[in-house]
Amino acid sequence: MKRIYLDYAATTPTHPEVVKAMIPCFNESFGNPSSIYSYGQEAEGFVEEARERIAKCINAGKEEIVFTSGGTEADNFAIKGVSFAKEGEGNHIITTSIEHHAVMEACKFLEGRGFKITYLPVNRHGLVNPDDLKEAITNKTILISVMHANNEVGTIEPIAEIGKIAQELGICFHTDAVQTVGQIPVDVNELGVDLLSMTAHKLYGPKGIGALYVRRGTKLTSFMHGGDQERGRRAGTENVPGIVGFAKAMELAYQGKSGEMQRLTYLRDRLIRGILAKIDHSRLNGHPTRRLPNNVNVIIDFTEGETLLLNLDLEGICVSAGSACSSSNLEPSHVLLAMGIPREQAHSPLRFTLGRWTVEEDIEKVLEVLPNIVTKLRDMSPFLKTRG
Ligand SMILES: *Cc1c(COP(=O)(O)O)cnc(C)c1O
Repeated sequence: MKRIYLDYAATTPTHPEVVKAMIPCFNESFGNPSSIYSYGQEAEGFVEEARERIAKCINAGKEEIVFTSGGTEADNFAIKGVSFAKEGEGNHIITTSIEHHAVMEACKFLEGRGFKITYLPVNRHGLVNPDDLKEAITNKTILISVMHANNEVGTIEPIAEIGKIAQELGICFHTDAVQTVGQIPVDVNELGVDLLSMTAHKLYGPKGIGALYVRRGTKLTSFMHGGDQERGRRAGTENVPGIVGFAKAMELAYQGKSGEMQRLTYLRDRLIRGILAKIDHSRLNGHPTRRLPNNVNVIIDFTEGETLLLNLDLEGICVSAGSACSSSNLEPSHVLLAMGIPREQAHSPLRFTLGRWTVEEDIEKVLEVLPNIVTKLRDMSPFLKTRG
């Protein structure tokens, strides 16, 4: 059976050209970048060249890129790093109620250590209102963290507007751009951010490598202590193959970007329209237009997301019931709850995320298979009988 992968927001297959670019770092150029003989210098050359190429894709300077083990570490570094560096100036952090667990749990950790956290609400489309942010700011606010696009429902937040507010008041501003880098244009200056998290494995690069963009002059307390790699900001021998693969993936992602965005948007809207037309009592979650070109998130009443997922899997179709990180527990999605979706419905979202190898036939296959699964499940459903 041909398998259809529609969970690109969880991770992406590594692009064959990325794998090819990484191979020399495993054999002839295996050196440690800190070594001063030729093997080391060669490896260091690779790392610095990659840093420059990655920086260029987001309109940053190369010394503003700090490599990390991925998005989670970049988020933790940004949030804890700023909080500890600015502890003397204030203890108030503003974030949103729809962040990825990496940001949310880092904030909760700080909350337990004397920091005050404001979790901004969102509207029913998952959008943050910059006016709410303005109201939440106090003279103790040291950090604002708002994600660029939500990983569950795909809503794109008004980052540039928030960036203006933060800049005017001189408050450090972080965005988790893991879902947008490589997917839509990202320019750190247009967005007005001081810190921006990214990861390679969501843009056809390898797992275990990411980066934090740190605007010149931003003070961060490091939490990886050891050697003076990354200009003393993040100790540990560089993941040279990962870094080289990350740079290649970034460049590939931004080649012919507008064409790919259009292609995905077309497939996305086809899938959305098809589901809403073919399955009654189904609804789209997230913003109808301000959403990632590859994200479809729906609620299908009188079904369970998890059960739909397992039934689709039997047909070779891989999707997600919310996000990869929360799919192993039965808690309703905090994102849907924040959007005002009732608890009993927030249990059953179904998320399709499309990507480079998604073709129109895949979408047609979903539209052929899913309505039958829904009918079958509803026939067995105790909800439907009682609710009519
Ligand atoms: C995947 C993801 C992360 C975590 O990145 P890892 O590299 O997997 O640690 C953080 N934030 C968002 C929005 C994500 O989608």
